[in-house]
Amino acid sequence: MSGVGKGVATASIGKILQSRGFRVTALKIDPYINIDAGTMNPLEHGEVFVTYDGDECDQDIGNYERFLNQNIYKNNYLTTGRVYETVIHKERNLEYDGRCVEVVPDIPNEVISKIKKAAKKAKADFTLIEIGGTVGEYQNMLFLEAGRMMKLTNPKNVIFILVSYAPIPSKIGEMKTKPTQWAAKTLNSAGIQPDILLIRAAYAVDEPRKRKLSIFCNMNPDDIISAPDVESIYEIPLNFEKEKLSNRILKKFSMRPRKTNLKNWKKLVNDIKNPKRKIKIAIAGKYFRSGKFTLMDSYISVIEAIKHAAYSFKAVPKIDWIDTEEYEKNPKKLKELKNYKAVIVPGGFGSRGIEGKIKTIEFCRKNKIPFLGLCYGMQLATIEFARNICGLKNANSTEINPKTKNPVIDIMADQKEKMKNKKYGGTMRLGAYACEVMPETKSYQAYGLKKDPIIFERHRHRYEFNNKYRELLEKKGLKIAGVNPDLNLVEIIEIENHPFFVAVQFHPEFLSRPLHPHPLFKELIKSGLKNHS
Ligand code: GLN
Repeated sequence: MSGVGKGVATASIGKILQSRGFRVTALKIDPYINIDAGTMNPLEHGEVFVTYDGDECDQDIGNYERFLNQNIYKNNYLTTGRVYETVIHKERNLEYDGRCVEVVPDIPNEVISKIKKAAKKAKADFTLIEIGGTVGEYQNMLFLEAGRMMKLTNPKNVIFILVSYAPIPSKIGEMKTKPTQWAAKTLNSAGIQPDILLIRAAYAVDEPRKRKLSIFCNMNPDDIISAPDVESIYEIPLNFEKEKLSNRILKKFSMRPRKTNLKNWKKLVNDIKNPKRKIKIAIAGKYFRSGKFTLMDSYISVIEAIKHAAYSFKAVPKIDWIDTEEYEKNPKKLKELKNYKAVIVPGGFGSRGIEGKIKTIEFCRKNKIPFLGLCYGMQLATIEFARNICGLKNANSTEINPKTKNPVIDIMADQKEKMKNKKYGGTMRLGAYACEVMPETKSYQAYGLKKDPIIFERHRHRYEFNNKYRELLEKKGLKIAGVNPDLNLVEIIEIENHPFFVAVQFHPEFLSRPLHPHPLFKELIKSGLKNHS
């Protein structure tokens, strides 16, 4: 079922197998037609995660990277659109030898070929494939069909894990197994028998319900694994191991268990559960409302990056969402920012709430509140500096005001061409680019650079710092701390005489991992803890 935690479950299964010394990779299949997640509204889809090789994909790829501590590449993300695109392209190239190309078996065959390609590239012992959506849905049928065909040709090398939700209706107070029984039956009707059941629920499954599920889902009770709600998602691999999940999986493949090494992971979870202090952080991002709910999913990597950095100081972050539109209406409210030890202005698009964000940045600069700007956050910090320090009152980004007299942030010529031709999908500056970090800057120090000043960070944007204004801004004290050496594009700006004011054109949050927090987030938190506690 969608939203039940399949992504984290997949990532956690990967983690426990990896901790036994196996090479693991994970693929995400999203059954929609979109070629990638890049063209979707964040309200529809949550965060768009960007891979090293520039794919705009589902946020679950971010979970895989964080849990497995390894890069996941483009090949590991499949959508219906992507599969059909390849098949149609092959058909046009006469690659089917003149025969009729059919939905079955040609679409599942292409899915299988893509899975195999990704597994081979990752040189994986285990390839985990997460199929999005819910069993029984029309959209994911062909992917289940691909799975069934893989098992048919390779029965010893394929197993199926069904992640199901067991509700505990508050008026009844009892865990209900019927939805899971139905899910297993629906899977059966697609020709698939689950090998393992993961039961997501508020609590662990008890023995009577395990027995019931075992009978109705046609499974060994030992293959029914509890996946109860947890305080931190990073506990999940440890909980799975308490249920001996990796042993069960290895047994199904007739593989001998190897020693598990989850020492560092256990320490991490221990630090998360026993924090020494709290740190209040504000994110001034776009406020996404959907009916009665506020969706934070769109910034999941930023939130996780803050957590990783805080955990490394044995601190837990208390993250608040700032609605900057409020600051536009009522600037007096800006004072509340003093309650925070650090402020982040993350990435974003469009002009809603922009003036409030610029005011937020100005407040952090003047009141010496540790500040980190990410992508749009860097562009807005540049605008703030140009307006308030350099006297360019109407400085702006051409994304916000295409006619501004002082376009300190502007679209590049090649991007303009793409926009004119309506080439929107997958055409931003995407993926990893080099950045040369200048010595004697906060960033240089944070990254711990010595001889080699080059770092690689991931991008997703169309607009850039306008080099025509570089000299003026530098003269007035803006520090250009990082530049892309190939395109001569400004990547990092800093301000001096401030505990921490760093803004970057890239998205460092995509590189943060629980056991390897990102240096800039770490430095932000460090500065927050130091300056105000
Ligand atoms: N909207 C800005 C651009 O396109 C920033 C994008 C972002 O923050 N990811 O350049």
